[in-house]
Amino acid sequence: MTSPVATVEVFTLTQPRQTPYLGALRPGEAVNPNGYIVRQRNRTVYPTFDRSVLVRLTTQAGTVGWGETYGIVAPGAVAAIINDLLAGFVIGRVATDPAAIYDDLYDLMRVRGYTGGFYVDALAALDIALWDIAGHEAGRSVRDLLGGGTDRIPAYVSGLPEKTMAARADLARHWQDRGFSAFKFATPVADDGPAAEMDSLRGALGPAAKIAADMHWNQTADEALALIAAMAPFDPWFAEAPVYTEDIAGLEAVTHRTDIPIAVGEEWRTPWDMRMRIDRCRIAIVQPEMGHKGITNVTRIGALAADKGIDVIPHATVGAGIFLAASLQAASTLPTLKGHEFQHSIFEPNRQLLQGNMDCREGQYHLPDGPGLGVAPSDEALRRLQPI
Ligand code: MG
Repeated sequence: MTSPVATVEVFTLTQPRQTPYLGALRPGEAVNPNGYIVRQRNRTVYPTFDRSVLVRLTTQAGTVGWGETYGIVAPGAVAAIINDLLAGFVIGRVATDPAAIYDDLYDLMRVRGYTGGFYVDALAALDIALWDIAGHEAGRSVRDLLGGGTDRIPAYVSGLPEKTMAARADLARHWQDRGFSAFKFATPVADDGPAAEMDSLRGALGPAAKIAADMHWNQTADEALALIAAMAPFDPWFAEAPVYTEDIAGLEAVTHRTDIPIAVGEEWRTPWDMRMRIDRCRIAIVQPEMGHKGITNVTRIGALAADKGIDVIPHATVGAGIFLAASLQAASTLPTLKGHEFQHSIFEPNRQLLQGNMDCREGQYHLPDGPGLGVAPSDEALRRLQPI
């Protein structure tokens, strides 16, 4: 049964955090009136809470689809794009081919240069919701609609938000004791430097553990190469985002001058962002982020990665979990999938926001059963949604 979309609703969902993402405030870091902090070492703004933008699409027949995208700052920007522009071109459409709707919406503003940013984040939320409807209408999971996928994905533990290097190593070992064998730390909060952090984690976790470093796009190519060389004796799994995202020549230089695998791509929005890099740069791993790309573009980037022999290990900003479920659904179908990020500091406290049996335990994601995404906001989450 298919039915046209009748309504598009946009909400924010905000969840307090005990510890800010990437850990407690460091010297020179303060919370501003909007609840934002700037990390001094990567010059990037983060909220002191978790917040995402959710969309609810309802068809004339009453089928509901949920989507989600980034709301960490300026959620009203995404909401305005949907409410003012995109909703009017989604209402009346039938979700039998969400990718075709995605392309129609993308083309509405392409000629004006809106090929990324908040505009495409808004598209991602709608795309996820349309795929959810398509699954519910077909009585099948999104991964089945995409051709079938696995129901388990290896997970790596990402982010160690503790104050000291020793405490971060203890936290990693805590997760190792719970069955996880792969880890990633963030170099901007490695207070004694990335090499010391890698040395500490290697000592705590042993030679078999996979340990990656997220370098947060915060270096020139020469600076990145020096840091990677310093980490190399401790056998990094991969080095992520080594140079400024605009610096494609720098990425090219780094990828050709180190044998440590380089991972990039969470901030990309479309396959175009990947195409302009893959011919020049020796990229080992791409890390599509569902909240920026939607199911349509994660799938397309995954296909391009398979064509080029590049591994896929998706990024995971969990939010309320809707876009994480979408990411697992799409990722599970990709030929060169090697794992998926696990943001435990967001996933664990936010479990009560979601219904469905999606889980991450003993080193693996367990994909949810059921049609569509297999998850939906819990009653508590529904009570806390703020229309925007
Ligand atoms: Mg990252």
